[in-house]
Amino acid sequence: MKPDIRNTFPFLQKEKPLIFLDNAATTQKPQSVIDALSDFYSNHYSTIHRGIYSSGEKATQLYQGAREKVATFIGARPEETIFTKGTTEGINFVAATWGDENLNAGDEILLTQMEHHANIAPWQELAQRKGLAIKFIPLTSEGTLDLSKLPELLTPKTKLVGVTHISNVLGTLNPIDTIVAQAHKVGARVLVDAAQSVGHIPINVAALDVDFLVFSGHKMLAPTGIGVLYIKKELHDSVPPYQFGGGMIKRLTLSDASYVNAPERYEAGTPPIAQAIGLGAAVDYLNSIGFEKLSQYESELCAHLIDGLSQISNITLVGPLDQLRQHGHLVSFAVEGVHAHDVAAFLDKHNIAIRAGHFCAQPLIEVLGKNSLNRISLYLYNTKEEINYLLDVLNSLCKK
Ligand code: PMP
Repeated sequence: MKPDIRNTFPFLQKEKPLIFLDNAATTQKPQSVIDALSDFYSNHYSTIHRGIYSSGEKATQLYQGAREKVATFIGARPEETIFTKGTTEGINFVAATWGDENLNAGDEILLTQMEHHANIAPWQELAQRKGLAIKFIPLTSEGTLDLSKLPELLTPKTKLVGVTHISNVLGTLNPIDTIVAQAHKVGARVLVDAAQSVGHIPINVAALDVDFLVFSGHKMLAPTGIGVLYIKKELHDSVPPYQFGGGMIKRLTLSDASYVNAPERYEAGTPPIAQAIGLGAAVDYLNSIGFEKLSQYESELCAHLIDGLSQISNITLVGPLDQLRQHGHLVSFAVEGVHAHDVAAFLDKHNIAIRAGHFCAQPLIEVLGKNSLNRISLYLYNTKEEINYLLDVLNSLCKK
């Protein structure tokens, strides 16, 4: 990666910038994303769809332009690309609308043992309310999904398979195409949590043939408060609106209402206009670099990190390390005899930010037989020098 990448991130321009290795939680923002927000608020600020005046029209153009960029980025059509607050809202949206409307007592939902709480809790709530059963695809000892169990787990009662594209704890990249093909054979729909993949590898929802896909902008250089829910067009008739109000009404009387088509059908109220424009700018930024270069760079860094961590005797790494060396961007580990929070606090004293805890994946941490872990997650602005410094500091902690 060219050194000038770092120069495009104001956060990294301080005299002694924080060594930011918590990118799976959220990423720093390039100047072009900050500028897109500033330009909108400074020069074109208005709400969308309403104003018959120039800045209202410009705001609408910018917002819809962002939708088109994001749709192209994931291989979707604009009307299939719904702006949300983020991954969590996207999954709650699907559970509360399609799930509530289409799932009935006795139906089954199939999740995996490596899901983030965001892809478990909404389904548990729905299951309790409607009498559904939830099953889980187990893990292999390497930290991949044990797909040999799929044929027995998928039954005609399975109505939804919810799976993370890349695990936020193990870094595992799951074979979505295989899961989709088998799920569709029994008539189940598939929701993919792309929170950890969308900013790192190319996604094409049409090629993957997924039914729903969700992600958050803030993990891919964009502002907080914006995310995307992809809903396959052929499902629109079976997905009722999530919220009701301005912006999605075709005609409303004092007794009832009819609604416009997607995407506006699913975006009641004034949307996060600036944040969507910021997401469009993040997509431009990622496109300007290209996923081939980005993935290759991240994987080189990740392999270097894994090699270094493997040489520290009291560190135990989790996850499919060979896979992560090929195409990884995060790795989790435990330091024997030191609590994960103490590891992170020690690194913080040395100006390094990493994550400690259960990463909102308590069932997975339990399956791994741990109480908590540390996680280092990389992005395009991290460097080998940063990793070498981290390894030195970790070595000094482990020698104590
Ligand atoms: N799923 C995964 C795999 C995640 O890593 C995260 C964020 N940690 C989420 C869902 C939730 O994302 P958000 O908080 O942006 O809604």
